[in-house]
Amino acid sequence: MQCYFCDTRPADPQTKVEKPVYQLTKYSHLLVARRFEFSVLKVDIPRCTECSRLHKKGKKTFNWWFWSFLLTFCIFGLPIIVVALILGGAIGYLLGRMFEKKIYTRNKIKPLTKRSFETYPPITEKLLQGWTLKKPGS
Ligand SMILES: [Zn+2]
Repeated sequence: MQCYFCDTRPADPQTKVEKPVYQLTKYSHLLVARRFEFSVLKVDIPRCTECSRLHKKGKKTFNWWFWSFLLTFCIFGLPIIVVALILGGAIGYLLGRMFEKKIYTRNKIKPLTKRSFETYPPITEKLLQGWTLKKPGS
């Protein structure tokens, strides 16, 4: 089987992505308590070892940018910690996402995003049948 993320290399069962999909089966509420009952189904998405490595690298890159900006802003912005947290977090997040994305586009692979999941045919099929990627009630 071929890897879904690069469409070129063979998939390795060890590095597959298990993506859960949910279907609401019962919803009830009593005063403020809401209760959701749902079925969960795990869809296996074939992935090769190289894409798995790149996804890990992307995540690491994101974390590096995010946390270094957040921490740096906090250290230098101690008197106005709330502003520092928001600014550092926002800049770190944007740069992190940008550099993470670069890794994927340079290597021509799909990222681990909602869009990639939605366009994986077995998941698309489930979504059309009323399943969701988001856990009901969350
Ligand atoms: Zn791959």
